[in-house]
Amino acid sequence: MKARQAFIAAHGGPEVIQWQDVDLPAPGPGEVLMDIRAVGLNYIDTYHRSGLYPLPLPAAIGSEAAGVVVAVGDGVTGFAPGDRVGHCGGTRGDYATARLVPAKELFDLPPDIDFVTAAAVLLKGCTTEFLAERAATLIAGDHALVHAAAGGVGQLLVQWLSTNGINVIATAGSEAKLDIALQCGATHAFLTHDPDLVAKVRAVTGGTGVPVIYDGVGAATWDISLKCAARRGLIVSYGNASGAVTGVALGQLTAHGSLFVTRPTMGDYYTTPEERAAGISRVWAMLRSGNVKVTVGQTFALAHAAEAHRAIEARETVGSTVLVA
Ligand code: NDP
Repeated sequence: MKARQAFIAAHGGPEVIQWQDVDLPAPGPGEVLMDIRAVGLNYIDTYHRSGLYPLPLPAAIGSEAAGVVVAVGDGVTGFAPGDRVGHCGGTRGDYATARLVPAKELFDLPPDIDFVTAAAVLLKGCTTEFLAERAATLIAGDHALVHAAAGGVGQLLVQWLSTNGINVIATAGSEAKLDIALQCGATHAFLTHDPDLVAKVRAVTGGTGVPVIYDGVGAATWDISLKCAARRGLIVSYGNASGAVTGVALGQLTAHGSLFVTRPTMGDYYTTPEERAAGISRVWAMLRSGNVKVTVGQTFALAHAAEAHRAIEARETVGSTVLVA
């Protein structure tokens, strides 16, 4: 099968994304040949591209896609030609019109989930599931703070936590994004660059601070997260959109109230077939409940993936971004 696939031969800006035509062989043992109909853009794609997360080069990129099984290799059970499937995490290479993918990395798509929705929610939804329900223990009535609340993971996380009865304090980079966060269910929303942000967050928690803070922004919000945390609170530092958090001295955690920190990754929460099945079924259940909705804020032609990278890095996107062939 012929396919067009993205690759990078060097780390750098969006311009390093190149395209090539390939002739895909029949799938090998354990592999599936997947015809890709929609691709999810994720901030992690920019880390792979820029070298923040270095890859052996040349490298394929893309970690979220939905499409149809064309053929299966020896030993593959559970998938057959014509099946609608989704891929997230694991081996990269989803910026493509078709690819070979290990069967163990695929999810079946339920009939009520279209390809664009699947590409918008698989990686971000599974991430939200483990962040909201497994990386931290929250009970209804608690406060949580979510940075970049109008983003892809951000919007899902605000809705998910709110559904679970959590009072979500949101931060975002513009007034328009604050409105989005409030529509998603946040009880309060503040500009990330508000000089009085910490005082405002403390005020809405009655002075105690926030027991759980979700921080996917990283370097730029680390100090804010420390200062907003309640005594013995937990900072879930799950991403680096503004750069990686480095050089943290454990004394900082003491100084801000005996804090806890976790730096989780989805790979450690979706390890076994059972864990994967349980996690994705929570995602589908949340979507079906109507309490969590996926917003595709913008789409780009797959061939214009570099433009999509520029937009997400310039903080111009909201919700999920989907690349379509
Ligand atoms: P988003 O759609 O959330 O985009 C990133 C957002 O970060 C921007 O919209 C912007 O929102 C905010 N931001 C703040 N400062 C900067 C900056 N200097 N440069 C760029 N953006 C900035 O992306 P995703 O939903 O794809 O990912 C969100 C986070 O989740 C990322 O950090 C990603 O790495 C992480 N992630 C982690 C996973 C894990 O397993 N640990 C899995 C999946 C995602 P604003 O303008 O409102 O500040």
